[in-house]
Amino acid sequence: MPDNLANKIAAGEVVQRPASAVKELMENALDAGAEHIAVLVKGAGSDLIQVSDDGCGMGEEDAVVSFQRHATSKIRSLEDLETILTLGFRGEALASIAAIAQVTLTTSRKHDDHGTKVVINGGDLESVQPIAASAGTSVAVRNLFFNVPARRNFLKRPATELKHIIDTVQVMALSNPRVAFRLVHESNELIDVPSGRDLSQTEALARRLSNLLSLTTPSELIFVEESTSYLTVTGLLGRPDDHRRTRGQQFLFVNTRFVKHRYLEHAVLSAYEYLLPEGAYPLFVLFLDIDPRHVDVNVHPTKAEVKFDDEQGVYGMIRTITRKALRTAEMTPDFLSAMPAAGIALDLGGKEATSSGGSTRSSYETSRTPRHAAEPDKGDWMAAGVQSERLYDTGRLIASDTAGERIATDRPDASEDLLWQLHDTYVLTQIRSGLVIIDQQAAHERILYETARRSLEAGFGLSQQLLFPTTMDFTPGDYTLLEELMPDLKSLGFDIDLQGNRSVVIRGVPADIRAGDDRSILDSMLDQYKSFESIDNLTGKENLARSIARKSAVRAGTRLSHKEMRALIDQLFSCKMPYSSPDGRPTIVKLSVDELRKRFGQGS
Ligand code: ADP
Ligand code: MG
Repeated sequence: MPDNLANKIAAGEVVQRPASAVKELMENALDAGAEHIAVLVKGAGSDLIQVSDDGCGMGEEDAVVSFQRHATSKIRSLEDLETILTLGFRGEALASIAAIAQVTLTTSRKHDDHGTKVVINGGDLESVQPIAASAGTSVAVRNLFFNVPARRNFLKRPATELKHIIDTVQVMALSNPRVAFRLVHESNELIDVPSGRDLSQTEALARRLSNLLSLTTPSELIFVEESTSYLTVTGLLGRPDDHRRTRGQQFLFVNTRFVKHRYLEHAVLSAYEYLLPEGAYPLFVLFLDIDPRHVDVNVHPTKAEVKFDDEQGVYGMIRTITRKALRTAEMTPDFLSAMPAAGIALDLGGKEATSSGGSTRSSYETSRTPRHAAEPDKGDWMAAGVQSERLYDTGRLIASDTAGERIATDRPDASEDLLWQLHDTYVLTQIRSGLVIIDQQAAHERILYETARRSLEAGFGLSQQLLFPTTMDFTPGDYTLLEELMPDLKSLGFDIDLQGNRSVVIRGVPADIRAGDDRSILDSMLDQYKSFESIDNLTGKENLARSIARKSAVRAGTRLSHKEMRALIDQLFSCKMPYSSPDGRPTIVKLSVDELRKRFGQGS
């Protein structure tokens, strides 16, 4: 394959859009040890991208060679090679960019008496000349994608491409707080942050963050520095009162690579619980350092995805570390010590959640701790949930989040529990420091969601048999979907038979479905599934768990008995993530006595 063509193909991989070229060129500048990096852009990167640095520069020979595919000065050992190969596109950036643009490189080393200028056009070397140049390198990329019209047409609106470039420079500037960065588009200076060579890494980062995000002073930030045997977390957290309306100012780096990771972002967010108003997000920059064996970074140039071998463990650590930092900064209300006032009766009598069920479940049955079914209360929608919940107790990791532990403490006399229901929608209870308000529907969704996830993971869930099996007909599309979801539906506790002629016999439904809902649940869940699929792009188990939670959660406007409220709180705090519904709505709002006092004008 002619090299030119190979480069053009590789270019598609490496350079998806102008911002990718900016990123590659800046990375080269950093690799060259630059202290100042300037990025000049015209036409949102389509007309010109010029990255200049004061790094080590290159001699004439290297300057020419640098455009050859797999030319890299950065592989020194076999080990290097291995890591680099996993990165997949080492030594390809310059070659790729040059294949699809007109590139002028000027470069000079510190003690050279002249520099070198190399011009390459669509991959063809046009000229190499000596020039006068100061130490460093400047790469000008003109008319990116000029010979790949498909790609050029594929670009988004200039404003969008420019936004990608700004984001790219911003992320670079955050992960290299001691290097000065400038970004100029046409004649607008968009970013200009000074070098922090004389500062410590954290000082530099604090200043960088406040410069970039225009905070008034770095003292508005909270330092994080914590190590476990598994990972090290360093960085900065924004103060709770300096929150944002979007997630746009959350920066997570894993082994220096910027990643977007909703789950871990949530770990940080959840540590801010009660500190932020609804719909607000903290700002943070966190660097996770973790043995590469525990992470799988998908370094496809356009994606920044990462997977950990112990995702939940990392979630827990980040949350704990963030909490600790916030608490040290004395900003977390001590919910933990406030909780015990709400004692919990675990002794809710439940109905036998599994009736004749399937034989697969019987082995699991035996592991169930015998519970005194003091008040078998068959009508209780919540009781069934309690029962199934309990089955998992043994295996459940009690989170380091002590709120859960404390609230689950048995208290012999539950009759004194102060529990109220407001508008048949919110459950109110007293804690030592004030009042807790629980959104019953959101809370129940959380509970059902986690139960469903566990059932799906374990491959079986509790079922309640219908007294009278029903037969329902489905549309061909729904029927196919049912076929596809069949194994997971079984795991959830559905006992259904597909009859082949689009009709389905329902013999049993998951145990925590409320009585009365049992016949319609399959149908309404399927509808929800489809809508989550098309609107939120949810698939498979996650979608199923959310669908069933959404469809069978107790609605706002449903009167709850004292016992049901108690069970709701109990189960909520046994959840892994009690503070938000599966789709991120808060389940709990706390109102402290202090706040009340203030509102009543009694000062603090
Ligand atoms: P890689 O960075 O993976 O080595 P590139 O194609 O990005 O591959 O760059 C090829 C080579 O060109 C680098 O290994 C480096 O030696 C040289 N080079 C590129 N940009 C610069 C720069 N700004 N300053 C000094 N050397 C550079
Ligand atoms: Mg490079």
